[in-house]
Amino acid sequence: MCVWNRCDGPSSAMTDAARLHWRAIVAPALLVLVLLGGLVGAVLHASATGSDEAALQRQTALVAVAVRQGLARVRKDQEASTNWDDAVVRLRQEPLDLDWIDQNLGIWFHDFYKIDEAYVIDGRNRAVYAMRSGRRVDAAAFREIANHALPLAAELRGRIARGEEQPEGSTELTLGAYDILVIRNRPVLVSIKPIVSETGAIAQAPATERLHVSLRYVDGSFLSEIASNYGIEGADFQWVSHGPASLPLRNRAGAVIGHVNWQAFRPGAEVARRMVPVLLLVLALIGSGFVFLLTRILRSRLELEASRAQAQHLAFHDALTGLPNRARFEDRLDLALAGVRRGNHVAVALLDLDRFKHVNDTLGHLAGDALIREFGRRLGGLVRGSDTVCRLGGDEFALLLPDVAVAADVEALCERILEAVRKPFRVLGSNAHVGVSIGIVFAPEAGTDRNELLRKADIALYRAKDEGRDRYRLFRPEMDATVRLRSSVEEDLRRALDEGGELAVHYQPQFSASGNAMVGVEALVRWHHPTRGLISPEQFIPIAETTGLITRLGEWVVRQACIASRRWPDLVMAVNLSPMQFRAADFYDRLMAIVDETGADSGRLQLEVTEGVLLDDDELVRTTLMRLRAAGFTVALDDFGTGYSSLSYLRKFEVDKIKIDRSFIHALGQTVDSAAIVTAVLALARAMKLSVTAEGVETQEQLRFLQSAGCNELQGFLFAPALTADNLDAMLSGRPFVAAA
Ligand code: C2E
Ligand code: MG
Ligand code: MG
Repeated sequence: MCVWNRCDGPSSAMTDAARLHWRAIVAPALLVLVLLGGLVGAVLHASATGSDEAALQRQTALVAVAVRQGLARVRKDQEASTNWDDAVVRLRQEPLDLDWIDQNLGIWFHDFYKIDEAYVIDGRNRAVYAMRSGRRVDAAAFREIANHALPLAAELRGRIARGEEQPEGSTELTLGAYDILVIRNRPVLVSIKPIVSETGAIAQAPATERLHVSLRYVDGSFLSEIASNYGIEGADFQWVSHGPASLPLRNRAGAVIGHVNWQAFRPGAEVARRMVPVLLLVLALIGSGFVFLLTRILRSRLELEASRAQAQHLAFHDALTGLPNRARFEDRLDLALAGVRRGNHVAVALLDLDRFKHVNDTLGHLAGDALIREFGRRLGGLVRGSDTVCRLGGDEFALLLPDVAVAADVEALCERILEAVRKPFRVLGSNAHVGVSIGIVFAPEAGTDRNELLRKADIALYRAKDEGRDRYRLFRPEMDATVRLRSSVEEDLRRALDEGGELAVHYQPQFSASGNAMVGVEALVRWHHPTRGLISPEQFIPIAETTGLITRLGEWVVRQACIASRRWPDLVMAVNLSPMQFRAADFYDRLMAIVDETGADSGRLQLEVTEGVLLDDDELVRTTLMRLRAAGFTVALDDFGTGYSSLSYLRKFEVDKIKIDRSFIHALGQTVDSAAIVTAVLALARAMKLSVTAEGVETQEQLRFLQSAGCNELQGFLFAPALTADNLDAMLSGRPFVAAA
């Protein structure tokens, strides 16, 4: 149910904003960023890997060239001193000039060309000179490498003996033998060159040349040199490969000796490493821009949504109470009626505050508004969560109970509502007292059409009001029949008043206490309907009152009574007046006009009013009554005992007579109370010096009781019913007549 401050108001649209913000913006933005980041990362990685691979290939090729050229360089450098006339001559000297050899074939090679070891062997492969690490050593040191060097020397001497020549295009001038060998567990380039005459001027027997043996360790300065020359970082010799940045070092036979490993230059990875922070920054900027834009879009969307919700709320809620209005009520009723098909029982109650106008008139509209709000609050506190309380407008409310188990539950709820409303309403510092009338209808019992149900609830509500307000009534089909009758009767009554002929006034005699003397008559209207027959005034007078026809009808009866009163100059003519007639501001003037016009004597006219008249506007009624009595009319309080029968009314509004309602007379002899009440009323009237008429006297017992109790006048079927003027004449003159009821 939508009660008071629990209504689905426009604010609820904003409470979800944070969740919506996360769901609609931050999460997708993060996702997009992650995807974008992933994509860029993948592209970056692929291109970095690609360029790193290309770079590695280039580096591998470069290292291969560098090693090859490094090795060739060693052989080429060797020729600087071996292809030389002086060297041939000097090595033939006996004894050898070792200092000279140091400076030209030994230490010099170490100092100038970084050769690690150099040996000179004679034509019979005997070592004549040895140098290691830049120092001359005993030539016998050659023995340590002899088994490596001698096969190469033999091969070289063989080639020389065969007269082989350097291939065309070779940069080397002399034949040589070389290989990469493992000596003392180190890789070493061993290169052997013959020491020959550069000019050819010195003859030598082939294959007997002295040979120069050069050893250059590959894992020493050799690699660091070529690395620095070719810009290869971290070049190092290792027996095993350390990864992709590695080149196998093979001997002449193609067998792998070991590997040159180096630190691969990875331009791609480097670029990627530098790019990542920049990319992250760019992504963060894009992300925040994205979030900023979407936030603005979302905010304007939420604002739009909120104003739409506000408009929606206003369209379906009452501004004063915040309760659903008629439109929302009808929607919910339609929804509930759909549930009827599933077997639900739906109850609709229409509520109307009693005496609310009085609160508005006496305490002001602000107080009226506060009362309406408080009433809505009290209603909201009494119903279940699934029920709907709504304000239809003014002081009208409605309840929708979409799932009722038994009708008794609804009746119990109505009792609770009546109870809650009976408690005073504290508004603007004053206590206001109101009541509530409730009309209830059930679906599907009374139908399943929304308008039809509301019409029937309205009928039940009017029945509750008719029966005295401050109560609830459940709709019954006969109420509908009454209403239908009402509308057709209204139409016919209007026609009867226009055309005449169907309406008549009958006169019921009123007798003195002795029962012997007729002292007056009461004019009672009769309607002979062409199809419905005789319709009781108790049926059509209320219809005339609610439709406003009572003014015309009442005036017509008063006119007939005035005319008739001249016919019976000794009788008092009593005429009934409805509260509706009395309330008209010009009532007094119009009544006087009829009296004048018909030449009636106001002194013999008695006006019968009910307590309903006295309940209304005090001052107007009081002054009108005073003026009427001053003009000679007498006033009788009709149906005494059925309404409030308040002593204060009798004191406040001066009347001449009380008519005890016929229900009390009827009950005489049947209930003990009734005799006591009648006796008390008579005593009261005597004390107030009022005359008393008993209505509805039907039996001799009633007559005797009333006579002994001191009743002044009597009226009832025991004497006569209401008679036509002619029959009354006949009765007065003692002629026989047939009384029509
Ligand atoms: P009321 O003014 O109390 O009139 C008396 C009613 O009691 C009359 O009913 C009358 O026929 C009935 N009555 C009289 N003696 C007896 C009796 O011994 N036993 C029983 N059971 N009933 C008796 P009626 O004529 O049907 O009128 C009903 C009511 O309609 C009247 O009650 C009066 O309130 C109203 N009414 C009748 N004519 C007019 C009229 O011209 N103007 C207005 N405003 N109201 C009228
Ligand atoms: Mg009367
Ligand atoms: Mg009466």
